[in-house]
Amino acid sequence: MPPTALIVGQSVMKAFQHLSTQDLHTRRVEEAYRVVAECITAVDPAMRLYMFGSTAVYGVHEKGSDVDFVALSKTDVEDGKGEDAGTQVAKGLQAEFLGKLAKVVRQKHFSWNVEEVRRTRVPVIRVKGGSSVDFDITVNRRNGVRNSALLRAYFEQDPPCRWLSMGVKRWSKRAGLNASVVGGSITSYGFNLMVVYYLLQRGALRFIQPDAIDVANVAPVPPYLPLEPPRNDGAELGEQILDFLAFYMHEFDAARHVISLSRPGITTKEQLNWTKNAEDLARMNGEKINYQWCIEDPYELNLNVGRNVTPLKRDFLRKHLEKARETALLTTT
Ligand code: ATP
Ligand code: MG
Ligand code: MG
Repeated sequence: MPPTALIVGQSVMKAFQHLSTQDLHTRRVEEAYRVVAECITAVDPAMRLYMFGSTAVYGVHEKGSDVDFVALSKTDVEDGKGEDAGTQVAKGLQAEFLGKLAKVVRQKHFSWNVEEVRRTRVPVIRVKGGSSVDFDITVNRRNGVRNSALLRAYFEQDPPCRWLSMGVKRWSKRAGLNASVVGGSITSYGFNLMVVYYLLQRGALRFIQPDAIDVANVAPVPPYLPLEPPRNDGAELGEQILDFLAFYMHEFDAARHVISLSRPGITTKEQLNWTKNAEDLARMNGEKINYQWCIEDPYELNLNVGRNVTPLKRDFLRKHLEKARETALLTTT
């Protein structure tokens, strides 16, 4: 017999027990912010630094989590609803700035490992700061700040929902589904979009128009949002987890539908032209894009956040969704 909701909730709570003795305040990353901001200023004093990713989404910083930073110009911020340029020229300019920045970081912090990653969709530098936190730095891209602020605005509607998100993220990493581990295909960001989409479908959250999010109104360092223990001893969390799993196993129609926060209600693959034809066309252009498990990016035009989910990975995901019910999101083993 599969465990009850209460048992599932309590098991997941136990897996996060270590958080109760940790300082989760976002001030813990302010030191990293200051250090990165100093390096940015050395390259271009007019650039401003923004923090995004999980620290911004949850309003807490989990030990061991990397921190995502982006350097934005004054115009980027003022035009805070503007679209990010995806051209080769834009990418080239970003890589050039990051090259200079990497040099400064290496000079100021010679023991840190600084890697320039150019072959990704978005140029980025990865810094491993030894005992201090690790971080990614991008430049002139507002979308990360906007999508993090959007996810946060959803979690602010019902802050305990962060437990579902954190439970799913932890599970996705342990199950080998998360793109941050070998063999994984969906990033934490993708799983967060799945969590919020599920909550919207259930009417547990109110829809937010993505266009309402303006970088000009977002704090560069996200404010702390205290994480209270789950309600009624975890029973509600357990129910939510089981319902989330059931939703993606039995209700969500992956063959026809798209996980999307772009509009309320249902979005179909047909609507976005995310079809077999489009897969083939991309392949001819030398790109590997799958439309097997579709997650629409709320800001990036025509981007499937689940593009790396091949038919094999989709089956792997389904298997794990099934297994997750018995193992309380892999917290019992
Ligand atoms: P973690 O704690 O695992 O680092 P996170 O909440 O910081 O989780 P990430 O997956 O690291 O989430 O995503 C950080 C940012 O990177 C997102 O806000 C988004 O802008 C970008 N991103 C991540 N995955 C994708 C993707 N598949 N497609 C497009 N952008 C992505
Ligand atoms: Mg991150
Ligand atoms: Mg990151």
